[in-house]
Amino acid sequence: MTKTIPFFIGGHEVAGKGRTAPVFNPATGEQTASVSLASTAEVNEAIAVAKKAFPAWAATPPLRRARILNKFLGLLDARTDELAAVITSEHGKVLSDAKGEIQRGAEVVEFATAAPQLLKGEVTENVGTRVDSHSLRQPLGVVAGITPFNFPVMVPMWMFPVAIAAGNTFILKPSPTDPSASLFMADLLRKAGLPDGVFNVVQGDKEAVDALLEHPDVKAISFVGSTPIANYIYETGAHHGKRVQALGGAKNHLVVMPDADIDQTVDALIGAGYGSAGERCMAISVAVLVGDVADKILPKLIERTKALQVLNGENLAAEMGPIVTDAARQRIKGYIDAGVAEGAQMLVDGREFDGAKAGAGCDKGFWLGGTLFDHVTTDMKIYKEEIFGPVLSCVRVPDFGTAVQIINDHEFGNGVSCFTRDGNVAREFARRIQVGMVGINVPIPVPMAWHGFGGWKRSLFGDMHAYGEEGVRFYTKQKSIMQRWPESIGKGAEFVMPTAK
Ligand code: NAD
Repeated sequence: MTKTIPFFIGGHEVAGKGRTAPVFNPATGEQTASVSLASTAEVNEAIAVAKKAFPAWAATPPLRRARILNKFLGLLDARTDELAAVITSEHGKVLSDAKGEIQRGAEVVEFATAAPQLLKGEVTENVGTRVDSHSLRQPLGVVAGITPFNFPVMVPMWMFPVAIAAGNTFILKPSPTDPSASLFMADLLRKAGLPDGVFNVVQGDKEAVDALLEHPDVKAISFVGSTPIANYIYETGAHHGKRVQALGGAKNHLVVMPDADIDQTVDALIGAGYGSAGERCMAISVAVLVGDVADKILPKLIERTKALQVLNGENLAAEMGPIVTDAARQRIKGYIDAGVAEGAQMLVDGREFDGAKAGAGCDKGFWLGGTLFDHVTTDMKIYKEEIFGPVLSCVRVPDFGTAVQIINDHEFGNGVSCFTRDGNVAREFARRIQVGMVGINVPIPVPMAWHGFGGWKRSLFGDMHAYGEEGVRFYTKQKSIMQRWPESIGKGAEFVMPTAK
């Protein structure tokens, strides 16, 4: 009998009454738990609890909300190792990477602890004679976050710290693939003193998502996941009158100019291509090799891809862990097969990796090694589609202009990078590229908490990026207040638009 992972509603764990899904340790392939999948009725209960908690939380001074987030930060810091182990056991990523994701999430909490400053309004004295005006931002009500498997801590933390700092109550619907981290965070928030009902977790799948999308008491939806689902969330949420920010999939390119530092570029491609087994929305999946740089870089890339330490993520020597599920592994293998069939040149074949080499008990885990292709062309499936696995495709182009053109023509526009020593090339690249997050000699340009995160094109639906000041705007609505006092009001009704007199 494995345990069944519950919901967290109104300050305590609540057992699900209906369907469940299995949860696996991807390193061993063993089922470690089941997770409850919420029904519409169960989601509605959570929404009712969050709605009830809203008025008191919205009326709590922002400084007091921020103090609770500060306590949460302290607890998170003290329990990072445990939480990282929870992530590794259900996601598979290596422990150091799991700690890194917690750190990047905590930075958004740190940002949100500035709530009193972030929520400060504006005032104009005398918009008209003896009439003053001020504007302020108020919370929306119950808001929901729907998150992917690949960052079970960081992505929810792109959302809830800002949402609750702004005075909303929050419902998290995490991925059912690695659900335990959500309850760990809920427990720490409770210990930090967050009032019951302000942060809730419903585990589930499409039924739970649709219940959140359709319920009139949910005022805003933040989503992060694949592009087809992001598109669906955006359209359905908008249809039901909600604010929606829906971050989707990616195909991130790293341009290697002939003057790039080759060793630094190889380090960048290996880390950004194969780190977290390529299961990052900011992973590099295409190396764009400009001019004659291919001949300089490929021998080193081949050597390093073959030497990757693919091990159980619990092993501190691991550089890359397993793939999250067997279905994902089969999907990635299917892409590798398609690359071979379409004529890309296979330089390193990750399909041959034997899980038994990853550590004791790993022979039935969901393993793949790193795969490297050369001579990939822009009409191939492995170039056009998101693979979301440890597969790096090299595309050769004659010049900088062609590199920029193919990236701008791609349907995704999440992250991009250019390695060069030439300041003018760097400047032109940053200016001309149609991608939301750009790195110059930085392979994974994930913006810091106060800058906001978001891609362009089919990598983001909606007009507000996650976290940062755009996050604050997303989770609040502006109110403008104009006031004058009886002593200052003239006599007689006015029938024209008010103007500054
Ligand atoms: P996914 O789209 O399968 O799932 C994301 C969420 O949507 C989960 O909570 C899932 O339960 C829910 N969901 C899945 N199918 C649904 C359906 N038919 N109807 C309603 N809800 C549904 O994504 P995933 O596999 O968990 O995560 C990987 C994807 O997320 C990749 O495409 C990756 O690029 C993307 N991602 C994007 C960003 C970004 O910032 N742009 C960040 C992380 C991950």
